[in-house]
Amino acid sequence: MARFSKNSTVLCFWVVIVFVISSASASTRLRKFDHPTKGDGTLNFLVIGDWGRRGTFNQSHVAHQMGRIGEKLNIDFVLSTGDNFYDNGLTGIHDPNFVESFTDIYTAKSLQKQWYSVLGNHDYRGNVEAQLSPYLRKLDSRWLCLRSFIVNAEIAEIFMVDTTPFVQDYFTNPKDHTYDWRGVITPNIYTANVLKELEKALSESTARWKIVLGHHAIRSVGHHGDTQPLVDRLLPMLRAYNVDFYMNGHDHCLEHISDTESPMHFLVSGAGSKAWRGDVKGLNREDVHFFHDGQGFMSVQLTPTEAEIQYYDVFGSVLHRWNKSKLLLHSAI
Ligand SMILES: [Zn+2]
Repeated sequence: MARFSKNSTVLCFWVVIVFVISSASASTRLRKFDHPTKGDGTLNFLVIGDWGRRGTFNQSHVAHQMGRIGEKLNIDFVLSTGDNFYDNGLTGIHDPNFVESFTDIYTAKSLQKQWYSVLGNHDYRGNVEAQLSPYLRKLDSRWLCLRSFIVNAEIAEIFMVDTTPFVQDYFTNPKDHTYDWRGVITPNIYTANVLKELEKALSESTARWKIVLGHHAIRSVGHHGDTQPLVDRLLPMLRAYNVDFYMNGHDHCLEHISDTESPMHFLVSGAGSKAWRGDVKGLNREDVHFFHDGQGFMSVQLTPTEAEIQYYDVFGSVLHRWNKSKLLLHSAI
């Protein structure tokens, strides 16, 4: 009897340990938001980045054209690739920059949909917690910004990744800038966790389209170019899990670049306001299909078998359009 009790105690101990371990691993899952689509099996959305300048630098003009195209495509939501508020994010939850650069700018009826946003490096120069705060959602219910999370939109899963902490330079060489690293005390541990959570989510995804979105580019021929830590640490994972598109901002332009080692495409949409005309390197590369060094945005239209991507300039003119077919790709492989 005494022996049985001892065994029971040991068993209980291990049950508790297993429970603690599984609880810990469960708590590292990325938060997932279900976004039901229109019911016809299609999904349309806009992608914009690097925008919040109180309407200046053509932000208002881009916003107007987004409203027009958003109406035409009957969009389900908008994705923001970060650098949401210039120059230094928000000072707090009461910073008028939120209303003046977001609510008062994107006023078209078609844009009164959910906006899913990540943080950019400029956002980290302000009060990061303010942008993440539920209080902003009370001011404008469209706003949803978190560090890393998933939008589950039935035929597509969109994995939103917080890329700023991957760039060591912001920690070691901040120049005149002050960054708000609350929540990112140890960047190596923070980024390792992000990658672990992302890999788990990608491995479990059964969506037809897998899209990963971050602020920094993996591939870009614009001002900042490739982000080497993402090339080293994120790109292999995206290839391994057959991600279709990696979308980003940071470079203030529009780009379409294909991966040289997988069917993945890199789509840059960081042209929501101030652009850097002529700031480009490597345009003659074979993998670069499109580059625009002015303001604009991107639309994505998905069916279970087709993706159509279009890039628009500040006048709403289509500059580049291309399609990707899942069935053709699979049969080609
Ligand atoms: Zn940036």
